Amino acid sequence: MILIRNVRLVDAQGERGPLDVLIGEGRILSLEGGEAKRIIDGTGLFLAPGFLDLHAHLREPGEEVKEELATGLLAAVRGGYTDVVSMPNTKPPVDTPEAVRALKEKAEALGLARLHPAAALTLGQEGKHLAPAGLLREAGAALLTDDGRTNEDAGVLALGLLQAAPLGLPVAVHAEDATLRRGGVMNDGKLADLLGLPGNPPEAEAARIARDLEVLRYALRRSGARPHLHVQHLSTQRGVELLREAKRAGLPVTAEATPHHLTLTEEALAGFDPLFKVAPPLRTKEDQEALLEGLLDGTLDAIATDHAPHTRAEKEMDLLRAPFGIPSLEVAFPLLYTELHLKRGFPLPRLVELFTDGPRRVLGLEPLHLEVGAEASLVLLSPQERPVDPKAFASKARFSPWAGWVLGGWPVLTLVAGRVVHEALE
Ligand SMILES: [Zn+2]
Repeated sequence: MILIRNVRLVDAQGERGPLDVLIGEGRILSLEGGEAKRIIDGTGLFLAPGFLDLHAHLREPGEEVKEELATGLLAAVRGGYTDVVSMPNTKPPVDTPEAVRALKEKAEALGLARLHPAAALTLGQEGKHLAPAGLLREAGAALLTDDGRTNEDAGVLALGLLQAAPLGLPVAVHAEDATLRRGGVMNDGKLADLLGLPGNPPEAEAARIARDLEVLRYALRRSGARPHLHVQHLSTQRGVELLREAKRAGLPVTAEATPHHLTLTEEALAGFDPLFKVAPPLRTKEDQEALLEGLLDGTLDAIATDHAPHTRAEKEMDLLRAPFGIPSLEVAFPLLYTELHLKRGFPLPRLVELFTDGPRRVLGLEPLHLEVGAEASLVLLSPQERPVDPKAFASKARFSPWAGWVLGGWPVLTLVAGRVVHEALE
């Protein structure tokens, strides 16, 4: 039994407290205190439901030099995540039920954050032949995606949506038209021209979202079940507009935005630092404002990290050759708590919702609120500020575009179903 005394509660429903939260048998037993072996003073802290990340590259199997389950899932609980969806673009890609089971078993043995592996939509993520969705679902796959690749064949995506629909599996897409983005390494525009770098135009994302929404319409018309398209790491104003229209029209589509697109712009590339190279690329201030608007009005459902660790050596290559990706599991919440909530007045319950119920709904999970009887998957957060120190990351990728940024909202205690998996109490 753990008693967290005098703590403010924040979930998708709002803020309450301070209250005395009693935790035992993996659940919240009371909000009015009680007897406990361990008592934690929650004065000045706030308690939220555990976070769910829809989009993490944990690199296992095959690229353990960049990250592995042990380091990635430790990074996750340090970031307040109790549940993580791992991307299947590993080596080899996760496209068999055996691979899904192996990941789940290994993650369970670690006893950190719970793993919900995503599986490939197509065999080898080659975009040609569908992976066995039914068997993947049975093995525990949480969604299907060829993320890392871009689903160039619309017919295959349509069949994928039709196959996944009766299974209740979302199909997540990295929506960029490869023929428009070509070799772009940053946002296409004046700055890219000035820097002499190949640009990746916002239209590459918008065109692909527009196409995918038509593919979804087709699947919806032809399927007896309800297909579910999920758009990953949305980055452009036009993309947000298309999503908003589609949701108004009642299409079964959801979307996520990343911490980097919400806090950084293309300007970061002016120093030619590959640390900021990511796909889709960092965009403009206008795009960022549109994403914020989308988070507020429900066009966007979730904040997902797209945690993409690489070795330091890879990220130190020149901008043209360095791989795409930014690691962020350990800083995502403090970053957005500070930059969006503290500095911009973004409502805290909505921010927490975008880390909890929002992504939970995408996976078809029940909402998780701080109520008596609720599963005690929780994160205790401290408003105390400190600078981001990548050297202290649990992730193997010990670098960060936010190094030195002074942030509050750090997780000081993370519980998975009542079990302490991370603790950094003063
Ligand atoms: Zn992607």
